[in-house]
Amino acid sequence: MTVLEPWTHKPLDEVLEQLRDLLEDPDYPTVGRWRAAGGRVLGHFQVYFPEEIAHAAGLLPLTVRGAQVEARQAEARFGSYLCSIIKTSLELALSNRIELAMFVTPPICDAARNLAAVWGRNFPHPCEILYLPQNANSAHAADYLRHEYDRLRRAVEGVVGRPVTDDDLRRSLVVFNENRRLLRALYAIKRQRPWLLPADDAYVLTAIGGCIPREEHNTLLRTLLPQFEVRPTRAQDRLRVVFEGGFCEQPPIDLLRAIAQSCYVVDDDLMIGLRWITGDVETAGDPLRNLADAYLERSSYSAVQHDLRKPKEQMLLERIRKAGAGAAILTAAKMCEPGLDEQVSYSKALDEAGIPYFISEFEESMTSFDHLQIQLETFVENVLFA
Ligand code: SF4
Repeated sequence: MTVLEPWTHKPLDEVLEQLRDLLEDPDYPTVGRWRAAGGRVLGHFQVYFPEEIAHAAGLLPLTVRGAQVEARQAEARFGSYLCSIIKTSLELALSNRIELAMFVTPPICDAARNLAAVWGRNFPHPCEILYLPQNANSAHAADYLRHEYDRLRRAVEGVVGRPVTDDDLRRSLVVFNENRRLLRALYAIKRQRPWLLPADDAYVLTAIGGCIPREEHNTLLRTLLPQFEVRPTRAQDRLRVVFEGGFCEQPPIDLLRAIAQSCYVVDDDLMIGLRWITGDVETAGDPLRNLADAYLERSSYSAVQHDLRKPKEQMLLERIRKAGAGAAILTAAKMCEPGLDEQVSYSKALDEAGIPYFISEFEESMTSFDHLQIQLETFVENVLFA
């Protein structure tokens, strides 16, 4: 089934506006439509979740990424010193904006670890913690992760009341491989001709995938990407930057639009969970093992994954180099300990590499960007005319 309002007859800019409105709507209308048609939903917290397991069971995998809502009920369950996404994500469920059949969160930080416990006490649906390997370098990491995915598969089977077979999983792998291929194509446009795909448009097109069926996201990307290619927009002399710090809490779309007015964002880590696996997952053989291998061997990086083979500073430098960027925007969500910690090591690595960077903080609910825009414009001028 499809959950988007008809869009194929509309011009590109109108479709983007429609998608943006959907993403900013805290009532998650696409999820409501899925449920109204009898569908059930597995919500998972950031950053990475093997959505194929939910998809294979016929559930809609929903990326729970908070929202611009007042976290009235959630505030009573969490301390005020935490990041916003933790509270607004819980608020979405407490206020019945999203109704789940199951919730899964990986313990990416202390706040997320507590989210699982608090969530589990507030709702009757199953709430699982997905323990991704702490030591990705261990020779047993792939075996361990395969078992963990199998445990998750059994929990999902309990929710849907039927077995989730390897063939079900293989069919889902095909859908998600296609989705990852299309997202790679989207990011290739960003890198090669960023004037065609500003940061806010690219974000909207990517993030919508977290709240609609993946087949529908594939259709959307397949139809719209060629339209970007022929957009009548000319290249301008702008600074090419990598945006780093959007791996968990997401910045407001207006913040990305403000950045796009002075820079070309040629790569980023926004909604990185949707693009975590960087190549096709093998469809032959054991699908859970293949997913585990891909998580460990063909994957991106974030402040909350620890893998000694992927030093994050080096990964950031590599991302900047591959994208041909001349600078970085190092940002972090307010009160995000992993994100703020990583800013320190990233800035040290960039200093050593002689790459200029702009440091900032954001919150999903912020509404004023004038100050940031002025500071960023000054930074850009300093770099371009140094
Ligand atoms: S924004 Fe940071 S602190 Fe908050 S849940 Fe995500 S990783 Fe944890």
